Amino acid sequence: MAAEIQPKPLTRKPILLQRVEGSQEVVNMAVIVPKEEGVISVSEDRHSSSSRHCIIPVEVEEICLCVALFKNVAGIPLNTEHHSCRRWEACQSQSMKAWDAASLPVAIVNAGRGCLEEGVSSATDLWSGSGHRIAGAYPPLIINTSTSRTVRVWLKRDSGQYWPSIYHMMPSPCSCMSFNPETRRLSIGLDNGTISEFILSEDYNKMTPVKNYQAHQSRVTMILFVLELEWVLSTGQDKQFAWHCSESGQRLGGYRTSAVASGLQFDVETRHVFIGDQSGQVTILKLEQDNCTLVTTFRGHTGGVTALCWDPVQRVLFSGSSDHSVIMWDIGGRKGTAIELQGHNDKVQALSYAQHTRQLISCGGDGGIVVWNMDVERQETPEWLDSDSCQKCDQPFFWNFKQMWDSKKIGLRQHHCRKCGKAVCGKCSSKRSSIPLMGFEFEVRVCDSCHEAITDEERAPTATFHDSKHNIVHVHFDATRGWLLTSGTDKVIKLWDMTPVVS
Ligand SMILES: [Zn+2]
Ligand SMILES: [Zn+2]
Repeated sequence: MAAEIQPKPLTRKPILLQRVEGSQEVVNMAVIVPKEEGVISVSEDRHSSSSRHCIIPVEVEEICLCVALFKNVAGIPLNTEHHSCRRWEACQSQSMKAWDAASLPVAIVNAGRGCLEEGVSSATDLWSGSGHRIAGAYPPLIINTSTSRTVRVWLKRDSGQYWPSIYHMMPSPCSCMSFNPETRRLSIGLDNGTISEFILSEDYNKMTPVKNYQAHQSRVTMILFVLELEWVLSTGQDKQFAWHCSESGQRLGGYRTSAVASGLQFDVETRHVFIGDQSGQVTILKLEQDNCTLVTTFRGHTGGVTALCWDPVQRVLFSGSSDHSVIMWDIGGRKGTAIELQGHNDKVQALSYAQHTRQLISCGGDGGIVVWNMDVERQETPEWLDSDSCQKCDQPFFWNFKQMWDSKKIGLRQHHCRKCGKAVCGKCSSKRSSIPLMGFEFEVRVCDSCHEAITDEERAPTATFHDSKHNIVHVHFDATRGWLLTSGTDKVIKLWDMTPVVS
């Protein structure tokens, strides 16, 4: 009798189509041009070869403090590596004006010795002008700006390589963008709060300026162009959500969010806007032509929201967070269901939804591309139960002195089974299991009886995991071709054919 032949597992994975290289800086945002072999990208290019000095690497937070102080006292605008700094938000709110980094002098700040060349003569002036406390000695740091802030349109050439057909300098570093393929309208958000609008030529070789919106007091964080309503929605580092009429250029209204927004989605049909912010809150507003009303706010992450994705068909909102998780908020279901998806080892950076196959693509700072099958019925994780003793073997937990004394037993540490939520001791929860139907694609703690009850079928993964081999900062999914663009901290844009896994 022939031995049973195990079928070889199918190695279905995204196919790397192209690497687009040549940026001196991390590409903040980029989109695939539908139906074309092209990519549009924006970056800050803050320390390109045209710079007069390079930045000595120091802790981000330290630079930020210095910038805040320097700006406060000297009134000199600076542009530096502060954007991922938590303190930046606080600095920003101290009524600093938007700046034009192009005309900057180079400033050398030596915070350790308290001396500053150019601008402010003494450190006392510098520090006393701000409420920040300076702790510890700082290495000397040189802050500079470069003159290069570019929008690039890359087209595939006969050689098979992508080369820029447009290389457009902006007056301030580019922070975000939105591209509408139907109208070829490109809206670019700048570090100085302005949104600049361009129309790209049909051959993608030329971009014509249309108008500027003075949308924010500081860095634009997200832009969304709504063709149906001729609206430009945006959020900024100034904690403002604003919307403008793209016909007239007029500002229609605004709303102050609780923290800087990092996710923005819009439902055209009901005119609901979803704003996710760095405090972890999601705000839903209903927009009218020139006013808005707060519908609700909710919070489920232990970290800030990094990305939002709205599925208008199922009426489901996905939020990605720096707490490594994705939450699916079933808004259409009206039962308040929220399902957690645990599949990343680092912060979730971007989300995309393939409507036709009902698959969610989440990308993380760990380089992971996770494709979630959203066609399966998942359950909410249970509330963790409270108990003074193990709910399996009845051994007391360590704070339960009475029972410890009465039964002459040593108190144990409390754990929780991720499947039933029961409070159990370590001995009664020694095994681990993935529970994909609860969103746990990784193995988690379960009690022994739940471990026995989970079938292999229930353990079958509901997501596939892929390695992009760079730390992703931004993605764009072109659903028509099944192409995914990933932009990484390695300054490379990668184009992937996702059809082997998204179909
Ligand atoms: Zn026990
Ligand atoms: Zn259990």
